[in-house]
Amino acid sequence: MSGNIVIVGAGHAAGQVVASLRQKNHSGKVTLLGDEAHYPYQRPPLSKKFLAGEMPAARLYFKPPEFYDHPNVTVHQNTTATRIDLNKRLVTDDSGNDYKYEKLVMATGASVRKLSIPGATLAGVHYLRKITDVEAMQAQMRAGAKLTIVGAGYIGLEVAAVAQKLGLQVTVVEMADRVMSRVVSPAVSAFYESEHRKQGVNLMLSTGIASFSGDTSVQAVELENGDSVISDMVLIGIGVIPNIALAESAGLIVDNGIQVNERCLTSDDNVYAIGDCTNHPNELLGRRLRLESVHNALEQAKTAAANICGEQLNYAQVPWFWSDQYDLKLQIAGISSGYDNAVLRGDPARRSFSCVYTKSGRIVAVDAINAPKDFMQSKSLIGRGALLDMGLLADVEIPLKELAD
Ligand code: FAD
Ligand code: ADP
Repeated sequence: MSGNIVIVGAGHAAGQVVASLRQKNHSGKVTLLGDEAHYPYQRPPLSKKFLAGEMPAARLYFKPPEFYDHPNVTVHQNTTATRIDLNKRLVTDDSGNDYKYEKLVMATGASVRKLSIPGATLAGVHYLRKITDVEAMQAQMRAGAKLTIVGAGYIGLEVAAVAQKLGLQVTVVEMADRVMSRVVSPAVSAFYESEHRKQGVNLMLSTGIASFSGDTSVQAVELENGDSVISDMVLIGIGVIPNIALAESAGLIVDNGIQVNERCLTSDDNVYAIGDCTNHPNELLGRRLRLESVHNALEQAKTAAANICGEQLNYAQVPWFWSDQYDLKLQIAGISSGYDNAVLRGDPARRSFSCVYTKSGRIVAVDAINAPKDFMQSKSLIGRGALLDMGLLADVEIPLKELAD
């Protein structure tokens, strides 16, 4: 394949497309349009080591800047794609420049879900998705400062762990009755609640937020129950929404993400979509889904690049995720929603255990907390929907793979 490839969005997925096209000796031009002032970088450290000041910015980059220094590759930073003409195969940016493509890759990712309550635009109210967001937070993160976090999902809890370590006074306000309820079982939530409280985090569950108050910058978070939490700064981490507006206005089919098939092809034969912005089928799981994960971004990127280069590659992967909080490494394989049984292997009190989710006796997901063996062994078992010996599942002395049919 030697045609012009235009990639809209310059995040993790986009970086991998460039790398994969290069690997496959794609000889045409590759043009990357990204609205940030950066080459593609990794977001996971933004709520972990980079936020903690334990990782230099240079290590965030997916590939070093020299990687893009190639006669066929052009990277346009600070450039927003504003229009796509599917018939003319043309992308237009916010300065009115046109980019002609043979194949287009949409890698627009996701944006933070905003909270629209009074005071939400006060200075000191932060969201976390980009390097610039971290820089703004770090300017305020000094020991003793009072940080209130809205949302006890991955991002809220990872930031709580970093901030607590840095000596801030941390309150987390969550509207659900347990933490990380979107992804883990009640037993795993209870473990994390206990760990955060032991570390000194003031965790408020089943609690709604009414407003933020302050003159020009935030001074307090007002709760629906009438209480007030004095705050020097606030982080809102209440999930993301896929960036689909551009695709939708171009006429591509969107439905909770840009719709793609197993080849990462959209409703237009010349347009692929990859990463957080997609709604895609996964034959291993037997359904369509939208994922927010690096693994998915990388694998869809590889799939799209292969298909652009004339191969016929289907995306079919067991999803996996991770989260670092204090010295706890949570690794999740599969998607647990819809499970009918959750069995703990090991004792949470020892801070190393896993939770295995099954449906009709078949393994669908595993949460492994400081338990890498269960995580590693579970991926292939989930991929083939293995039946487990439920009677022995709780016996942590027996390796998971020996419990499968
Ligand atoms: P993105 O990384 O969102 O990149 C899309 C890019 O496109 C952005 O730069 C966006 O600004 C740009 N863009 C959008 N529209 C346009 C346009 N019209 N024109 C030009 N540019 C545009 N995942 C894990 O698996 N494990 C983790 O531990 C983990 N931790 C995370 C921690 C944080 C703080 C965050 C924010 C995310 C984390 N994730 C984690 C999620 C992971 O980072 C995403 O799944 C991944 O970045 C998705 O890559 P992407 O390329 O699809 O999208
Ligand atoms: P993220 O990736 O941003 O961490 P998650 O979906 O993992 O997103 O977690 C978001 C959390 O925010 C969930 O636990 C959800 O219940 C919580 N949440 C959503 N809206 C509010 C709100 N208005 N107030 C408090 N918590 C909220």
